[in-house]
Amino acid sequence: MKYFSTRGAAHAAPKSFLDILLAGLADDGGLYLPTEYPQVTAAELSAWRGLSYADLAFEIIRKFADDIPADDLHAITRRVYTPEVYRNVRDGENAADITPLRVLGEEGGTTLALLALSNGPTLAFKDMAMQLIGALFEYALARTGQHLNILGATSGDTGSAAEYAMRGRKGVKVFMLSPKGKMSAFQTAQMFSLQDPNIFNLAVEGVFDDAQDIVKAVSNDPAFKAKWAIGTVNSINWARVVAQVVYYFKGYFAATKANDERVSFTVPSGNFGNICAGHIARMMGLPVARLVCATNENDVLDEFFRTGSYRPRKGAETWHTSSPSMDISKASNFERFVFDLFGRDADEFRRTWVKIDSEGSFTLDEEMRARIRDEFGFASGRSSHEDRLATIRDIDARYGVVVDTHTADGIKAAREQLEPGIPMIVLETALPAKFTETIEQALGRPAPRPQGFEHLEGLPQRFDVLPADTEAVKAYIVKHAT
Ligand SMILES: *Cc1c(COP(=O)(O)O)cnc(C)c1O
Repeated sequence: MKYFSTRGAAHAAPKSFLDILLAGLADDGGLYLPTEYPQVTAAELSAWRGLSYADLAFEIIRKFADDIPADDLHAITRRVYTPEVYRNVRDGENAADITPLRVLGEEGGTTLALLALSNGPTLAFKDMAMQLIGALFEYALARTGQHLNILGATSGDTGSAAEYAMRGRKGVKVFMLSPKGKMSAFQTAQMFSLQDPNIFNLAVEGVFDDAQDIVKAVSNDPAFKAKWAIGTVNSINWARVVAQVVYYFKGYFAATKANDERVSFTVPSGNFGNICAGHIARMMGLPVARLVCATNENDVLDEFFRTGSYRPRKGAETWHTSSPSMDISKASNFERFVFDLFGRDADEFRRTWVKIDSEGSFTLDEEMRARIRDEFGFASGRSSHEDRLATIRDIDARYGVVVDTHTADGIKAAREQLEPGIPMIVLETALPAKFTETIEQALGRPAPRPQGFEHLEGLPQRFDVLPADTEAVKAYIVKHAT
């Protein structure tokens, strides 16, 4: 299995999985993709149906990571995907399933279900991939005797998932910038209560964009980056996408009895990383009818699927909503999907993609838009804050299940795309405890908290405050890096 870049330059020298594991963008500014998607045979699909999550993850990921010895990879997936790590399941769910399928009920002539992906340590789906990445990074670094300093900026979910995945790992330190006083009390406590010596929480005196700008400034200094072995774990990391492919298969098996059945998935989307994994699962041959891309008021993606126009917004045009992890102005993984849409013709793709820089947008023709729906199976939907409140109330009243704001965005879009006889699986991307302010607004009572999180905000916190200044952050890294 070899990898090239969407921008074409790396076609000449394809890379292996371990070559790109620690990489972000390709050197030409594009995103890595496998030169072709591995195909799953009917026999494999049947054999995989009964596998545990860890064994299924091994079978799928080995197709993409054939430069990791099979025994090593299998040991890693078995260490990572355990009920101890994914223990925050609801009453009546089995932690051994890792991603239990929770049927809500019958609607629109079919089954509406949630795929619970948020039972890991930070109560959001990002743990599903990030925990694996932590183990893979440690493995890859140990093989070559290297070390890595991960630098990131977060407004919540990504930073905490990265820290919980990297804590205590050999050869890795994490420097995570966050806007001082701007995260929820829960999110702040989740990150700042970590006492592991390889985790550094840096509260920056500024807003999220200031923190993000500092990370960009450091990344644009190749000499500093090389000298201090600076890396990232952002959503374009290919291994994160691959890890997410696994639960589409797991969800399919849980919702069907035989491989001639089809299901649809609805995915609360921001950077298009999660649903991109669904697209890849479908390209591998998983019988998926629809992939529904759900957005909030930041509807760049819904607009694309409705009109064929992709028009990234400016940062200042990004709304702060009650499903904050979907507040994006451009979708960083979208390039992977559009590259496939153009039949992986790098020249055709580039002619369209450059219009984002020159004209601020591109628009696809009628024929291409029909293919997006008919051939690639995509649909979309959008919700507002009022929609979220109404959905949270309705799902609680009808089914006795409290869902988080992002998942509510998904359910709203899913209900608009139900097809009789085709189960609709909504990916649950966070547990409601993370966003209890909105749950209280909707239901008049706080969200249920999983066991062990009762006293989170009271735990001792460990962090340093820094000015919003690149040189100050660099000096901090120099002092504390491995
Ligand atoms: C990150 C995140 C999303 C968006 O996922 P993408 O892969 O960026 O599309 C949705 N919901 C929650 C809770 C998240 O943390």
